[in-house]
Amino acid sequence: MMSKNKKHLTKAFGATVSDDQNSMTAGVRGPVLIQDVHLLEKLGHFDRERIPERVVHAKGAGAHGYFEVTADVTKYTMADFLSKPGKKTDVFVRFSTVGGEKGSADAERDPRGFAIKFYTEDGNYDLVGNNTPVFFIRDPLKFPDFIHTQKRHPATNLKDPDMFWDFLSLTPESLHQVIILFSDRGTPATFRNMNGYSSHTYKWYNKKGEYFWVQYHFKTDQKIKNFTRDEADAMKSKDPDHATRDLYESIEKGDFPSWTLEMQVMTPEQAKNYRFDILDITKVWPHGDFPPIKVGKLVLNRNPQNYFAEVEQSAFSPSNFVPGIGPSPDKMLQGRLFSYHDTHIHRLGPNYHLIPVNAPRNAPEMNYQRDGFMRVDANGAGGPNYWPNSFGGPAPDKNLKEPPLKIEGDADRFTYQHPNDDFIQPGDLYRKAMTDYDRTNLVGNIAGHLGKTQKRIQLRQTALFYKADKDLGRRVAEELKLDVKQVEKLAAMSQDERAAATEK
Ligand code: NDP
Repeated sequence: MMSKNKKHLTKAFGATVSDDQNSMTAGVRGPVLIQDVHLLEKLGHFDRERIPERVVHAKGAGAHGYFEVTADVTKYTMADFLSKPGKKTDVFVRFSTVGGEKGSADAERDPRGFAIKFYTEDGNYDLVGNNTPVFFIRDPLKFPDFIHTQKRHPATNLKDPDMFWDFLSLTPESLHQVIILFSDRGTPATFRNMNGYSSHTYKWYNKKGEYFWVQYHFKTDQKIKNFTRDEADAMKSKDPDHATRDLYESIEKGDFPSWTLEMQVMTPEQAKNYRFDILDITKVWPHGDFPPIKVGKLVLNRNPQNYFAEVEQSAFSPSNFVPGIGPSPDKMLQGRLFSYHDTHIHRLGPNYHLIPVNAPRNAPEMNYQRDGFMRVDANGAGGPNYWPNSFGGPAPDKNLKEPPLKIEGDADRFTYQHPNDDFIQPGDLYRKAMTDYDRTNLVGNIAGHLGKTQKRIQLRQTALFYKADKDLGRRVAEELKLDVKQVEKLAAMSQDERAAATEK
């Protein structure tokens, strides 16, 4: 027996361990005994320490904080956590890279995940965005293929520029995101120095049953700061975890990062005749048409105490809405409404909502879902486990109805109606938003990566750059020593003709 005030080392079920240095053997030099149950338990648990790595966004860092409302938005949404200026809601935020494994470098060229969990009094609201306002593809059917091209080659197990650019050059809708990714915004200096965007269009609805289309922009208060490709390459070898370290250390020393939430809001009538498809995630709403309005502040002020418990096991899903906020029919969003919850069930099990970082801490779960692996709460105790019941179990609240969305047309697989639009906003970005410095770095960043692919793929992709902006196409062609005339010819073809002309 040890003294009462000393901490005992115990086995998993609480029994005190007497020796944690010497396995039990038959004789001084004999084999280890199966009755050394402490050793068996310790090794058995160690063997199971890893859970499946996230298939995307595997490398990440997270922190706790709060969101504070700074403007009255009740005419747009009945969401309780947005109900009055000054209202604060606890949040957990996870930043990540996308394509790399858990041990990959933070300075890789990649979009950055920017996922926010709001612990509201109406349940958890997850906004699972990126540091870019658009995405590579507009249909979820393409997602697994796209991600395969960003990962490793099936034979060599190496990242493969041919796969990467072959897919993108055959998918012109990716051009807008490709140009942002290959600008210096593709290598943000830290997680604190980048914006976060909803990317999708979402629906806000008010108490009167009116709805609005919205886009979220979390603007960094630390200012945008990016690495050049040389700085990013140097950082990868100097400190592969530099952004994780920066976030943790900033919060530890009381330098709390913050972001200002700005919203773009559009009425359904404005959406009908708008010049861009607002349900297409490859498009933005130009600020000139829909000026962003300041709505709130996001502050991160507390580091996790345990990485695995709070960051690795955190799970965000775009399907976690609260009353006042709903999905739009954006096809990519519709795919994500299924896929995130589904992948968390695979990675963490059907009761992942009970893990403290994921649990709705300000609105307890009350329903009839029961049992399953790791059901570690009271599991509804002896209460009814079906609905309807006449034993006073939780009942749906009919007042919380979301306004209906009018749908018309046939059920079918529709090709995109405005393919030429794919080149307008990427061109605007290059011509209008970028400085000369940004443009020069963009061309260099593209050439450094695209130059590693087969010539025919280089030609096909450069033709897309040319279609967005002739100057951009010409500069990339010159940098790659391609025949500009050939690029021009490919750019003038239809997508199918271009694909056929550059087939292997
Ligand atoms: P504006 O001139 O009103 O806005 C341009 C925006 O571009 C800036 O506010 C900034 O967004 C962003 N930007 C600046 N430099 C870069 C860069 N190197 N890479 C990516 N984004 C950059 O123009 P529009 O609203 O008409 O948009 C023009 C283009 O800007 C779009 O085609 C789009 O590519 C890009 N953009 C637009 C956004 C939008 O929601 N309208 C958001 C982000 C980019 P921020 O203020 O968010 O940092």
